[in-house]
Amino acid sequence: MRWSENFTSLLQDQHISYKYSNGEEQININDCDWQEWLKENESRHDFIKNNLLNATLTFHHRVKMFIKHIIKSKGNPLKISYHSYKVEFALRGAAHVHGVLWIDWENIDILSKKDTQLIKDALKKIKNEQKIEDNERNAIAKFADEFISCSLKNPKTADIVQSVNVHNHTKTCKKYGSDCRFYFPRFPTLKTIVAVPLQHSDIPVDKQEIESCEAKRILSSVKVVLQDEQAMEEICEINKEKIDIYVQTLNLVQKIGLILSETPKKKQTICLDEKNVLKHLYL
Ligand SMILES: [Zn+2]
Repeated sequence: MRWSENFTSLLQDQHISYKYSNGEEQININDCDWQEWLKENESRHDFIKNNLLNATLTFHHRVKMFIKHIIKSKGNPLKISYHSYKVEFALRGAAHVHGVLWIDWENIDILSKKDTQLIKDALKKIKNEQKIEDNERNAIAKFADEFISCSLKNPKTADIVQSVNVHNHTKTCKKYGSDCRFYFPRFPTLKTIVAVPLQHSDIPVDKQEIESCEAKRILSSVKVVLQDEQAMEEICEINKEKIDIYVQTLNLVQKIGLILSETPKKKQTICLDEKNVLKHLYL
């Protein structure tokens, strides 16, 4: 519920002015900036609470427009043929949407025909709980890289990502135990990984248990460090320069590769943990 229109639509009895210049909106209520006015008059939370029908209609309209102009747009490279969604309300009343999009794999042209076929094969195998091959995993990772990023390098989106898409623990995180039920903090990775359950990996059956114990031991040690805010701050500071040099080198190698192959490549990062790979692919 961060949009200015949520509030402007609720203020019909006030004198409202709206100016748009140089890409910036200026909304005044009774000649006072709208945020200042709200601070002085009523908290934002109460304001929404007292105008739920109007806020819900605004939300509904916004979702419809998102589907029409973004999801179902002819220019959308995801080529969505069907969609389905449900609206949920968080405890504080914030509406949000959970949904599924069906991709028209026959018409998707952002990937090569070969990669598209590999993904189709992989999805069938995942559905039937069969093992997927390395080249199929790579094709899925490539597909994810086309549409998902957690990079803060783009100045156009960095601020938005930091304000709305960074996980901060709330009470609901620890509803079922002491760990965050959304698995945060996630393990960092420099490239997209499609993790698979152990029974579908290349590890021989008689070694799976030992490997699993060792993996759990390493990951829980990493988690302890990740959860230690002070340690993380110090570690990031120590290695910042080295990481920057590494990323710059990586970019340079990619640019050289790009010039040589003329094939666009993007390196972005998502981390699908072992347990949730199927869930992520179908959500
Ligand atoms: Zn959390």
